Amino acid sequence: MNLEGKTVVVVGLALTGVAVAKFCVSRGATVIVTDKNPADKLASQISLLEGTPVTYQLGGHELASFTSADLVVMSPGVPTLPEMTAARKAGVEVIAEIELAYRFLDPHATVIAITGTNGKSTTTALTGVLCEASGRPTFTGGNLGNMPMIAAVDHPANSPGGIIVVEVAAFMLENCVKFRAHVGILTNITEDHLDRFGTMERYAEMKGRIWDFQRSDDIAIGNAADAWVMKESEGIPSHFYSFDSRPGAQAARGAFVSADRKELVLMLASERERGGVDPERDDGERFPVDDLVIVGNHNLENAMCAYLAARSIGVTHEQVREGAKQYRPLPHRMELVGDKANIYYYDDSKGTNVASVAASVRGFPRPLVLIAGGVDKGGSYTPMLEALDGTCKGIVLIGAAGPLIDEAAKQHGVPYPVIYASDMHDAVARATALVGPGDAVVLSPACASYDMFQNYGHRGRVFREAVSAVGAKRLDV
Ligand code: ADP
Repeated sequence: MNLEGKTVVVVGLALTGVAVAKFCVSRGATVIVTDKNPADKLASQISLLEGTPVTYQLGGHELASFTSADLVVMSPGVPTLPEMTAARKAGVEVIAEIELAYRFLDPHATVIAITGTNGKSTTTALTGVLCEASGRPTFTGGNLGNMPMIAAVDHPANSPGGIIVVEVAAFMLENCVKFRAHVGILTNITEDHLDRFGTMERYAEMKGRIWDFQRSDDIAIGNAADAWVMKESEGIPSHFYSFDSRPGAQAARGAFVSADRKELVLMLASERERGGVDPERDDGERFPVDDLVIVGNHNLENAMCAYLAARSIGVTHEQVREGAKQYRPLPHRMELVGDKANIYYYDDSKGTNVASVAASVRGFPRPLVLIAGGVDKGGSYTPMLEALDGTCKGIVLIGAAGPLIDEAAKQHGVPYPVIYASDMHDAVARATALVGPGDAVVLSPACASYDMFQNYGHRGRVFREAVSAVGAKRLDV
């Protein structure tokens, strides 16, 4: 794609918009940056563009700019705007930032793209670490951290043999027309963002776009236990590899957990198809679960995705193991943050919806007390309570959703205490009083944070402070 002399409208001035604007200017385009927020709310982003020749249209959008542009590039998170529809009607191409980045990639670089309702960031970060262990130049970013995919274009990984690992949101896939992942991972599809997509069908369809532009030699990796994912996998052009964490699961091509839950088993069908392995005697490639410090069944799923992706693009078995051992959890995702006389404290502040909490605590290896609550998101708490059955010793409630969770726990007939706390420090102290040596205290709130905190990160940091206030030591695993 050539942007020289073209007029590009960049919609949304956050981290991605700033990067896209700079990129387009560097490729010779005339750039208009537009955002619904006024300039005073965007001061820090504008300062990042100081010295970059762009025109600002802030505090709203100008229709004529959209309809007369050569290209409109959408930042993630910007809703569908009437101006986008008008631009398309006028014959102007409107694309997502990842689509723009994709068009500038070396055809011999490998793209691994990850989407899904939960597990995207963990899978992306772990896949990136495994690929780095191979020694090949690797870019890890997208929606993850502060590395939008456009930054991959000028990264050493954008070269023959390089690997570009990106987390992509459904919002971005909605505005893609060619974006092709050599390996496309769809972790799961559960209720989320229905405010934007309206129905589960539409949301699932957008997630399924991760596979729509693949070719026959590409690889799709999806969750065999997820009916929405499996529906999206029907009729795709690429090779499908499933992963399945359910006990007793098998896969002819894909990954599952061994009967003793101590190994991840990968069936890399391509090797058998090439005739290297006798399918009758093939018991798969095995990876010890103990290589990983991340815990929980959901992380086995994330690991299976990452291992399948890495192995399928030529990262060796040894390199995968080496990378897995080096991998450390992202902050606030089941992060072990303290230990007090063998009571373990986990920060899962990123557990902001019921499905993610259920995934974090299902099959948890030790008895636990859960700290939950915050701003309710309108769904049912039952999946979380079911996942807690058998391992939970109590729930300590914080925030506005407390009474709703309390009521749901009563309905569920839980045998353990459900108590209220006045703030995070009180919650950690109360939870500590309910546990004994070998047990865990887990902050996994199933709710948004903004009734008490600025965001999930802030909530996690206050949890840590509270954990050290009860005398727990910081753990560096
Ligand atoms: P995302 O980037 O999709 O939000 P993360 O990797 O940041 O996902 O994990 C966020 C939370 O979602 C975790 O703290 C955990 O509670 C839950 N989670 C992670 N992986 C999975 C998974 N594979 N399935 C279900 N829930 C998960």
